[in-house]
Amino acid sequence: MIKVSLRAMNKLGRTDMPARDPLERAACFDEVNMGLTPEQATVEAMRCLQCKTPTCIDGCPVNIQIDQFIDRVAHGDIRGAGDIIRMDSLLPAICGRVCPQESQCEGTCVLDKKHRPIAIGHLERYVADTVRRYGLEPVAEPIEPSGKSVAIVGSGPAGLACAADLAKEGHYVRVFEALHQPGGVLIYGIPEFRLPKDIVAAEIDGLKELGVEFEMNAIIGRTITVEELFDEEGFDAVFVGVGAGLPRFLGVDGENLIGVYSANEFLTRVNLMGAYRKDTETPVLDLTGRRVVVFGGGNTAMDSARTPLRLGAEEVRVAYRRTEAEMPARDEEIEHAKEEGIIFDFLVSPVELLGNDEGWLTGVRFQRMELGEPDDSGRRRPIPIEDDIFDLDADVVIVAIGNSPNPLLPATESRLEQTRWGTLAVNEATGRTTMPGVFAGGDIVTGGATVILAMGAGRVAAASINEYLETGVWETEPELEPA
Ligand code: FAD
Ligand code: SF4
Repeated sequence: MIKVSLRAMNKLGRTDMPARDPLERAACFDEVNMGLTPEQATVEAMRCLQCKTPTCIDGCPVNIQIDQFIDRVAHGDIRGAGDIIRMDSLLPAICGRVCPQESQCEGTCVLDKKHRPIAIGHLERYVADTVRRYGLEPVAEPIEPSGKSVAIVGSGPAGLACAADLAKEGHYVRVFEALHQPGGVLIYGIPEFRLPKDIVAAEIDGLKELGVEFEMNAIIGRTITVEELFDEEGFDAVFVGVGAGLPRFLGVDGENLIGVYSANEFLTRVNLMGAYRKDTETPVLDLTGRRVVVFGGGNTAMDSARTPLRLGAEEVRVAYRRTEAEMPARDEEIEHAKEEGIIFDFLVSPVELLGNDEGWLTGVRFQRMELGEPDDSGRRRPIPIEDDIFDLDADVVIVAIGNSPNPLLPATESRLEQTRWGTLAVNEATGRTTMPGVFAGGDIVTGGATVILAMGAGRVAAASINEYLETGVWETEPELEPA
């Protein structure tokens, strides 16, 4: 450990991530956060106290050896730092950018109490980007083919992580993806200004180099069934990582008016179909000069609000039925949204979407709310304030109130038991479903969660698939855990 006055370092405080100017970035899709410089990363790494019992590791869902990689950064050994991170995380350039660090690793950093916590996510991103920029990845050892094959359904973080670990064991791996580009939410949901597409593409290229094949436009359950993957395609095991991409709606009058989008549809049109690029015909309504209202308080709502601003909207408001304290979005996204000029309306809930005779949206009727006792989620429950109703003009609304598990694949295979929430029932420790040879993980098991949890679940399942392929043993009555 470098001997410098840690007290003095910590008096300096946390190194802020350099970010593009709010006015500049609200008009383009360039990445907002610009990354730490080598000097900034070293200074930040030197603030780490190198605790004997590093609580930050417990805060990380995949238990990255955070103290060790930060120590390497403090010594300027970025290759070594990258090797340490890669032992536990396959997607550090992505997780360093999108993990909700404040409730995970940084939330358990001891410096969180007195000073601001170590910028673990920013350092992780710095290491991953530097390793890639200078080609510091370890040289891959030649892999002996195992003669076994695995079908991965869905190319989100769960599927990609599972595919990577299985390919490294020498198994033939083919990823089936319903959309025309791989990456799941990383590609169709999270916008370019938060997670550049070339970072996801580089991860997928790395998998292709490992021999993983990708079959796009393949909807399992429609193009081909799970059973056929075994019987006709000859796969020895199947991993299901189809995510939670079924939008939830408000269930109020006016939801079919022109100008009403689900967040999924809106973000997919912009991200996947290229409306964020200047050289593409925009397959969304022209938002120039429009007033947009987004319903919700999570990351999806923040992405749905910040995107229209970049497409020329005059005013964007986020309407949330609780207060800022209960918002599930990452702190950084809320802060960035505010800096960019997004207006937040708290303690309001839409009760009707208003339209004209031609079927176009013209406004939203809101009910004011107040907070009552905490509900099952631990957050205080919003309660309507009687007769406190008001209207707000709007040209476009985007409904970002959450997603349900993708129902198609489970609906077409009766041997896959579902929970009452529509998620797949699995043994949490192994990812085994109720159908022999079929494993599952990610949002299809947990419901909408996080990238790092999906990635971790994909890796747990890969280890279990590997064991199954070696032993051929399938527990006849797996102990199932409701997600
Ligand atoms: P997904 O990423 O959903 O991937 C599933 C894939 O399966 C998709 O590509 C889908 O097309 C495909 N598929 C579905 N059905 C079939 C089928 N029948 N056959 C073949 N393919 C199929 N998490 C964070 O940690 N930080 C964030 O900042 C963050 N922001 C988010 C922003 C948005 C807009 C959204 C929607 C989510 C966000 N999340 C964030 C959550 C995170 O992205 C998800 O938890 C994660 O992507 C789940 O990974 P997954 O692999 O389980 O599923
Ligand atoms: Fe923190 Fe996420 Fe990195 Fe874990 S993977 S150390 S939670 S940023």
